[in-house]
Amino acid sequence: MSFETILGQGQAKHIIGRALEQGTVAHAYLYFGPESVGKKRTALEFAKALNCAESGPHDACGDCAPCRKIHLGQHPDVFLLEPTKKASSRDTSISIDEIRDLQKKLGFTPYEGRYKVAVVDGVEKMNLQACNAFLKTLEEPPAATVLILVTANPYQMLPTIISRCQGVRFHPLPQEALRAILESHPDAEGMLDEEIELRVLRSQGQVARALAEDVAEIARYREELLALLSQLSFRRMDLLFAWCRETGRGHDLPQIKKILEELLGLLRDVALLQAGCGTESLNNRDLAGRLGPLAQAKPRSAVLHMMESVFRTRNLLERNANVQLTLENMLMQFCEAA
Ligand SMILES: [Zn+2]
Repeated sequence: MSFETILGQGQAKHIIGRALEQGTVAHAYLYFGPESVGKKRTALEFAKALNCAESGPHDACGDCAPCRKIHLGQHPDVFLLEPTKKASSRDTSISIDEIRDLQKKLGFTPYEGRYKVAVVDGVEKMNLQACNAFLKTLEEPPAATVLILVTANPYQMLPTIISRCQGVRFHPLPQEALRAILESHPDAEGMLDEEIELRVLRSQGQVARALAEDVAEIARYREELLALLSQLSFRRMDLLFAWCRETGRGHDLPQIKKILEELLGLLRDVALLQAGCGTESLNNRDLAGRLGPLAQAKPRSAVLHMMESVFRTRNLLERNANVQLTLENMLMQFCEAA
């Protein structure tokens, strides 16, 4: 019941469910995968399944007293440690004091549950001292204890920590799962279907990213770029250069990079249509009706050259090239290709 509330992540749920059912729960897990795809939520559902008073061994009811306490963060045997901002630093981290405090809590036998469960989110944010202290717990875990380390950046972790955990990989959420999550998300209340669809298409399967996306800005960029792509001609150079001037003046570098990302996305979709792919494979599926004529009007080699030109432009801007001149140069290459 409880794991059903997590959408997507079939593989991770299967691994966890099997361990619960067969009684082969490991002492330490590493849940890794992209940001905002359900790792921490799954860890807390796992904690519920380990301590649920009602349901079978492979899942939690979500409704009994232990399940509810875990949900509210009030269970005396389940601990969640997350990086916080420290006075000494601008970045968040997990300190040795916080690890020692956790170790102290794990030192007692379970107070009312079957297992003590510690979920350490953002585990790559432990500093070296904290890592070394934590290693002791991983090497000699207290009885009836399950440690769940959660990270989107396993490459920033010490190999000695990784090697002592059973890895469980999480994936970007499939579109239908993400759509369902957004449709019932309080932050998406009142959003129109088209807006939700646009967010789903552009968020790379990550909930927070889908919610943070500035769809009005994206819609504006896409309109401008579609107009630009349909006007590519040396005879319309005045119009094209005016766009470069205004874009260069009105946006900072991160925004210009975003505009180039949109441009790449549109060109990629045109190339896909030219290759005979269906509209379901497009990033800008909602614009299929307008991308189709572009795909027919431009030679395939031209579109590929234009994509290369965008890549080059992005690299030049990375190295602080003049924005307006670089964009002008890109559009001249576009005209030549088209
Ligand atoms: Zn329960």
